[in-house]
Parts: sequence; structure tokens; C-alpha cells
Amino acid sequence: MISTPTASSLWENLADNSLQKIAPTFSEAMEILKAPREDTLSIVHAAYRVRRHFHGNKVRIHVLQNAKSGACPEDCGFCSQSSKYETPAAQYPMMEVESLLEGARKAKEAGAWKYCMVTATRGPSNRDLDVICEATRRIKQEVGVKVCTSLGLLTADKAKRLAEAGVDRFNHNLETSKRLYGKIVSTHSYEDRVQTTKFAKEAGMEICSGGIIGMGEELEDVVELCFALREVGATSVPVNFLDPRPGTPFSHLKTVEPYFALRVLSLFRFVHPEVDVRSAGGREVTFRSLQPLALYVANSIFTNGYLTTSGQGENADHQMIRDMGMVPEVAGGEFNA
Ligand code: SF4
Repeated sequence: MISTPTASSLWENLADNSLQKIAPTFSEAMEILKAPREDTLSIVHAAYRVRRHFHGNKVRIHVLQNAKSGACPEDCGFCSQSSKYETPAAQYPMMEVESLLEGARKAKEAGAWKYCMVTATRGPSNRDLDVICEATRRIKQEVGVKVCTSLGLLTADKAKRLAEAGVDRFNHNLETSKRLYGKIVSTHSYEDRVQTTKFAKEAGMEICSGGIIGMGEELEDVVELCFALREVGATSVPVNFLDPRPGTPFSHLKTVEPYFALRVLSLFRFVHPEVDVRSAGGREVTFRSLQPLALYVANSIFTNGYLTTSGQGENADHQMIRDMGMVPEVAGGEFNA
């Protein structure tokens, strides 16, 4: 155990360090996750000092577009879009450019900072890339919202094409620790994923990479994931909480306890003070009535649902942000509803 006079001063010391961009040590990170429930609000308060310093009262809203759904050849145990499992997830082929453009317009109307086109694939085919690149060029010209894509594994050439088309950021989650990865997915490796983040970064795109909490991991796995995301240079870190999907191997798991989820988000904030830490998929079912507290730590959310589950919707999200005294940040300023 770390010997400081009071637990509260420990959390404040972590905040002081984080304000100077000094990350917690591994053992300090473990202390955050192991802290008793009654320490959680003190931890959130300390994390809020960091959030407020680097991100003010702004919230970056992201909107996901499931551009190609289901029938994925990969076997990620948490995912209802895998062809290996019988699930009720929708299946449809790659959307047309016009539909992706329309989605971007709606995202902008919803106050989005970023529009993220996602495909359920091992990696993008050349035809997928043609569509995504053309959609990106037109979104940049005609809509004016930042673009992220999540298309599975990349090669250096494919990453270059996306960057040249104007994709700002590429999402590729590490999902969990290196140690546990093989138990979550067998059709590709943790190293494959790290390599794709390198290709995307070398091509000039920012890296969005996070993970999913609640897949049976140990606390050490959460800490390892958190530090690994620093190593891959993520500028956006979605922290998802497992919402167990029927038909998947993880359907029997339970959502994590909301106070624990707040400590997880706080850990990510201390380790990633300047980056966009997102209270991401599963936030509604995990935090339940404590959901607004996550905004004291995270400076970003998705609105209007996730890839295979619906969220609480943009009106409720905007109301929550206003109730917290915060404002959505959009390209070029603040969002005015
Ligand atoms: S997480 Fe992505 S790669 Fe894995 S099964 Fe789902 S859609 Fe496919």
C-alpha cells in the first residue's frame, strides 16, 4: 500500500502530478482501482481538476455510423457482429457515399465534434476504401465535421490512402491487455492491432484507441491497457464498458459496478491528462443514474447509440451536458442548439 497521510491527499497528489503530465506509477494506478467505494467521489474530484485544467467545461460529442454491419469473419468474444455467433445484430453491406454523407449532416446537427464511420471487417477491401475515401473527401468539403474511421486492420498503403483522403483519426482499440487478448479474440493478435496503430500514425492520422472493461479481466489488465494506450500515442481514448450481447460468448457476464467504472475512468484521466477520454459504449447501462458523474472525468461521449446498441439519444445527452454546466464543443466553437 502507498503510505500517505490520507487517501484523499493521495488522490490529490495524483492530480497534481497529472497536471504536470506525470502519470501514476503502476502501483498507484492499482490503488485507484482497488480503492474502497467511499473513496470514489474523492478520486472523481481529483480527476475533475485534471479534466477542467486541460479540457475546461467542453464535451466532445462523437457520432458513430455503422457503415457495414455484421457478418464479420473475426471472432471477438464481446461482439454481436461476428459471423461466428448467432446474434440478432443487423447485417447489411457497405453503405453508399450519399448515405454516409447524410449521416455526417445529421451528426453535425446533433452537435458532433467527430463523425466516425465504422465497418465490421477484418480489414477494408479496396472497394470499402474507395467508398470511405470518397465519403471523407465530400464530408470535409460539404459538411465540415471531423472524420474518424474504424475499418479493422490496415496495411501501410491503406493507411496512406485514408490519410490522403482527409481522415483525421483512425480508431483501432487495443480492447484489453496483451496478456488477455488471446482469450478475447483468436483470429488476429494483439501485435496485429498495435501494428495497425503504427501504420495509421505513420500515415499522419491521429490514433483513437481504447478498450472494453468488464470482460473478465484482472485489475492489472485494466492498468496495462491504460498504459499501453499511452505507448501507442492515442490522442483519443474510448473507455467502453461491456454491455453483454445475447448470443456472444460474453453474454453471461454482468455489467461492472458504477462506482468501479468511475474509478476506471479516473485512472484513464490521470494517465491521459490531455487526450480525449470518452465515456463510451455501455455508459448508460453501466453508470445508470450516476451517468452524469462520468462527465466530471471524461471530456467526450458518443451520442445516438453505438454500433449494435442504442444510447439514451441526443436530446437526453444534451440535457445532461447542460445540467452539468458544460457545453458541447464543435469544430470552430461551441454548439448552439
Ligand atoms: S469487434 Fe470488429 S473485428 Fe471484432 S468481430 Fe466485431 S466487427 Fe469484427
